Amino acid sequence: MTRFDNSYARLPDRLFTRLTPEPVRDPQLILKNDALAQTLGVADWDAAHFSGNVIPEGAAPLAQAYAGHQFAGWVPRLGDGRAVLLGEVVTDAGRFDIQLKGAGRTPYSRNGDGRAWLGPVLREYLISEFMAACGVPTTRALAAVTTGERVQRGLAYPGAILTRVAASHIRVGTFQYLFARGDHEGLRALADHTRARHYPQSKSTLDMFAAMVRRQAELIARWMGLGFVHGVMNTDNMAVSGETIDYGPCAFIDRFSRGAVYSSIDRYGRYAYDQQASIAAWNLSVLAQSLWPLIEEESEDPNAALERLKAQIEGFDDIYAPLALREMLRKIGVSDIGDAQGDQKLVDGLLDMMEAQEVDFTNAFCALMDGTGSDLFSGAAWADWEAQWQLRLRGEDGVKARMAGANPRVIPRTHQIEKAIEAAVTGDYGPARRLARVLVTPFDLAEADRDLAAPPAAGEEVLQTFCGT
Ligand code: AMP
Ligand code: MG
Ligand code: MG
Repeated sequence: MTRFDNSYARLPDRLFTRLTPEPVRDPQLILKNDALAQTLGVADWDAAHFSGNVIPEGAAPLAQAYAGHQFAGWVPRLGDGRAVLLGEVVTDAGRFDIQLKGAGRTPYSRNGDGRAWLGPVLREYLISEFMAACGVPTTRALAAVTTGERVQRGLAYPGAILTRVAASHIRVGTFQYLFARGDHEGLRALADHTRARHYPQSKSTLDMFAAMVRRQAELIARWMGLGFVHGVMNTDNMAVSGETIDYGPCAFIDRFSRGAVYSSIDRYGRYAYDQQASIAAWNLSVLAQSLWPLIEEESEDPNAALERLKAQIEGFDDIYAPLALREMLRKIGVSDIGDAQGDQKLVDGLLDMMEAQEVDFTNAFCALMDGTGSDLFSGAAWADWEAQWQLRLRGEDGVKARMAGANPRVIPRTHQIEKAIEAAVTGDYGPARRLARVLVTPFDLAEADRDLAAPPAAGEEVLQTFCGT
C-alpha cells in the first residue's frame, strides 16, 4: 500500500504551485526499477501512473519554486519548469519524493515546453542508478516512459518522462528564493522542515549548516573517486539533502584529465572535474548567506555565530581534503591515511602519470587491482610509482577486497549511453535495457558484458555533452 504524506505541500504556499501533470497521448513503459518500486510500495504502478495520466490516491501534485545562481549569474525565479512532485511516500526505508520530470508546463516553465525527450531521460535513469549502485548519495530513477508525443529540440524527438525519487527536492536555490524576497517566515518554515527531514540530529540552523557542509564534502569526494563530472553545479542543482541531483550534461572521465569538462555550455570550465570541490564551497557560502537571518535570530551572540558560520565555510577544504584522499587511497587498496603528505603524493603521482600517459581513469584502477598495470602504464614513471605503491601496501590487510569494492569495472560511458539513446529513438530499447541491467552491478562484470567496459575507440569519443532537456 502506498502511503502518501505530503509534508512539503503543508509549507507556505509561496514555495509551490499546485497543479496536475498534463496528460500525454500514449504512455509506454520503457524501464521500470522493480526493486525501488517494491521499496516504495508502488509495485503496481504502470505507464499511466509514470506519465501522470493517472494520479495516485493520496498524492498532492505541485511544482516547486526556487531560484539559483547559474554559472554564477543570479536568476531570481527558476522552479520546476517541467517537473511535478506527486508527493512524498513514507516507507520503512524513509520518506521519498516521487516526481515526474517532463510532465508538462508549469508557472515556472518560462519559454520551455515542460517536456523532456527520451535521450536525457535515459541518461538520467542509467547514470543515477549506477551512482546508487556505487553507494553514492543520489536521486533515483523509478521509471522511464515514452509519451507517444514528439518534442521539438531542433528536430522532433520522442517525448519521455522520468519518474525521479529523492530524499527531497529542496535545493540551495530554494532557500535563495525566499531569502531574496525577504520572506523571513518562509525561510524559517523551510529551514525547520529541512532540519526535521534531513538533519534531525542538528539542534540549530547553524548546526544544520555544519552538517550540510560535511555531506557536500562527502558527496564531492565520492564523485572524484568515480571520475564523475557533474557539469552544471548551479545552486539550483545542489540538493541540501546531500544527494546528487540533475544529471544534465554530466559525464564520467574516460582518458584522464584533471581539467575535464564536457558540457557544451561550460565554456570557461567553471564546473570542470578539478573545480568541483571549490564550487561546492562557493555554493555553500551562498546557502550560508540565505540561512544567516535564521542563525542570527537563534543566537544570543550574533557576532560569535557569524564567526562560527564563516569558519565552517572556510573549513570546507579541511573536511573535504581528507575525505577525497581516503577515497583515492581506498581505490589503490590503502585502508586509511597514514602520512597525509606522503599519501597525497602517492595519489597525485598516479594521477599525473595517468594524465601524462593518457590512460583511462576507470580501467587504470581495474588494472592495478588485477595486477596488470604494466599493460596500461609504461616507462620509469610506472616502475617508480609501482615500487612506491607496493611499499605503501606493506602491512595492509584485505587489499584485494578493498579495491574490488572501490573500483567499478563498468561505468556509464558517454559513448555507450549515446549508442543506447540512438537505438531507443528508433524504437530499439535493447541497448538501454542492457545498460540498465549491467550498470547496477558495476563491481561485478560478466564476461559477456566486457565490451561495455572498453573506453571509446578512435572516433567513438564523445567530446561534448548537452543539457539536452
Ligand atoms: P537545469 O539546467 O536542468 O537545471 O534547468 C534549469 C531550469 O530550466 C529549471 O528551472 C528547469 O525546470 C527549467 N527547464 C529545463 N528544461 C525545461 C523545459 N523543457 N521546459 C520548461 N522548463 C525547463
Ligand atoms: Mg536543474
Ligand atoms: Mg537539468
